[in-house]
Amino acid sequence: MDRRKFCRSAVAASVAAAIPLMPGCSRRAPVATEADTSIRGISLDGAEIELEKAALKELGESMTGPVLLSGHADYDGARKVWNGMHDKRPALIARCMNSEDVSNAVTFARERGMLTAVRGGGHSWPGKSVCDDGIMIDLSQMHTVSADPDTKRAFARGGALLGALDAASLEHGLITTAGVVSHTGVGGFTLGGGMGRLNRKYGLAIDNLRSAEIITADGQIRRASANENTDLFWGIRGGGGNFGVVTEFEFELHPFERNLLSGGLVWPIAQAKDVLEFYGEWYQGLSDEMYVGPAMVTLPDGTSVVVMEVVYDGDPAAGEKELGPLRKIGTMLDDGVKMQDYNVMQTQEDAAFGHGVRSYIKNGMVSEITQGLVDMMIESFTADPRLALFTHTLGGAAKRVGENDTAFPHRNAETMLGVGGGWMDPADDESGIALSREWYYKLEPFMGGYYDNIDFDGTAAVGNYGPAYERLSKIKGQYDPGNLFRLNSNVEPA
Ligand SMILES: Cc1cc2nc3c(=O)[nH]c(=O)nc-3n(C[C@H](O)[C@H](O)[C@H](O)COP(=O)(O)OP(=O)(O)OC[C@H]3O[C@@H](n4cnc5c(N)ncnc54)[C@H](O)[C@@H]3O)c2cc1C
Repeated sequence: MDRRKFCRSAVAASVAAAIPLMPGCSRRAPVATEADTSIRGISLDGAEIELEKAALKELGESMTGPVLLSGHADYDGARKVWNGMHDKRPALIARCMNSEDVSNAVTFARERGMLTAVRGGGHSWPGKSVCDDGIMIDLSQMHTVSADPDTKRAFARGGALLGALDAASLEHGLITTAGVVSHTGVGGFTLGGGMGRLNRKYGLAIDNLRSAEIITADGQIRRASANENTDLFWGIRGGGGNFGVVTEFEFELHPFERNLLSGGLVWPIAQAKDVLEFYGEWYQGLSDEMYVGPAMVTLPDGTSVVVMEVVYDGDPAAGEKELGPLRKIGTMLDDGVKMQDYNVMQTQEDAAFGHGVRSYIKNGMVSEITQGLVDMMIESFTADPRLALFTHTLGGAAKRVGENDTAFPHRNAETMLGVGGGWMDPADDESGIALSREWYYKLEPFMGGYYDNIDFDGTAAVGNYGPAYERLSKIKGQYDPGNLFRLNSNVEPA
C-alpha cells in the first residue's frame, strides 16, 4: 500500500501541486449525430431501454455542448472521476455549457425514466457522479467563478472547482469557506455541507450560500434563496444533489488577510497520548480564529507521526499566544507554523490526493474527545499504521447555526473523525477497505452520525440526515417525485 497517500500534514507542503485537469472539450460535432443506430440505456429501476437515434440527435441539436457516446475522443476523459475505483461507462454524456443545456438533458432523462448521474467536480468517494448505461450530466465545462468586491459575493458555476472559488475571492482580498483540496468540486462539496479550514470563523460553505440557480426534475430553471423557493433553499443546504442540478452558487465573501499564521506541528507517534489528551481538553476553549486538528499518519519514510494542522485567521500575535500551550507538549519533530499565504495551505495536499488514486474512507461525528476515544484512536492506528486517521475541526460559527436552520444536522459536533486511505494497486483494495472498516467499527461507539461527503458507503441516508430527513423527503416529493436524482445519499420522495 502506498504510504505517501493521505499524509495530511505540513510535510505534504513540499509536494508539488500537480492538478490533473479535465481534458478540454473538443469542438467536434455532437456525437449524437454520429450514432448510426439506437443505443442501449438503463432505466431508473434497472431495466434496459432503447435510445433511438432520432432522440439522441434531437438532444444533440438542442444543446450548445456535445453529447458524447462511447468511441468519441472525449468520452473516456469525460467519464473519469477522481476515485480510481470507479470505472463506469454511461450510455451518453451530456456535456453541458449552460443552464439551458442542463434543462434539456434533465428533460431528456426524465421523459425516458433514465438513470441519471450529475457530475460536478467528480470527487464523490462512492463515485455517485458517474453510472453504467445511464446519462451523465457533465458540468465540468461550466467551471468559471467570478467575485464582486462591492457586494462581497462570489458566483460559482455548477462545475467549478474549489481552487477557482478561492482564487477569484482572494484576488479581491476576500474569502469564503472552501475545502482542503483545491481540485474538489464546489457542487457536491457545498450541497453536502462544506467543511473547510475557515469553518470555525465563517461557518460551513452552506452557511455562506446566499442563493442558487437550480434545474429541477421538471426541467425548470429556478432560483432558491431566503426569499425564493425557500424550502428548496433549505434542502440544498446539506441535502446533497437530491433536488436538482445547481448551475450557479452565490456565496457571501469576507474581508481576509491571505498572509496568515499557518502550517503543521509534528510529534513522534510515541507522544500521541500526551498530545491527544491535551488536545481533548484544550480545543474546547479555542477562538473562532483558530483552526487546529490532529491526524495520525505515516510519512513516506515509514515514520508514524501525530500532526496538528493550524490555520489562524486573525492577529498573528494573538494566534502565537493561543498556540503557546500546545507547543509546550512533548518534543516536536517539526514546527512548521509560520506566516504564509493561505493558498499554500489550500493547495499543499493537491498532489497527495491526486486524480486516479483508489480510495476508501469512512467517518463519524464526534461531540466530545473523551479518554476512551483517544485510547481507541491510538490503539487502532499503532496496531497497523498503513492508513490515516484524521479529524476536521468544527465548532465556532459552524456550531452556532441552529440544528434545523439548514438540512445539515451535525451542528453539535466538535469534530469529524475520518479513517481511510488511498493506494494505486487494485490488489490493495481488499486489505485497504478491510483495515478502514476495522478501525471504523472500533471507533464507532464514540461517534454519532456521519458526514456523507467524506464517506464511501454513504447509502444510509437517514443516518446522515438525522432529524432533517422527514422535511427533506417532503421537499423531494415536491421537486423530484420520480426520484430522478437518486445517485447521491438518496432521500426518498414522501
Ligand atoms: C481529495 C478530496 C478532498 C476533500 N476535501 C473535503 C473538505 O475539505 N471538506 C469537505 O467538506 N469535503 C471534502 N471532500 C468531500 C467532497 O466534499 C465530496 O466528495 C463532494 O461530493 C465533492 O463534490 P464534487 O462536485 O467534486 O463531486 P461529484 O462527484 O461531482 O458529485 C458528488 C455528488 O454531488 C452531486 N453534485 C455535484 N455537483 C452538483 C451540482 N452542481 N448540482 C447538483 N448535484 C451535484 C453529484 O451528483 C453527486 O451525487 C473531499 C473529497 C476529496 C476526494
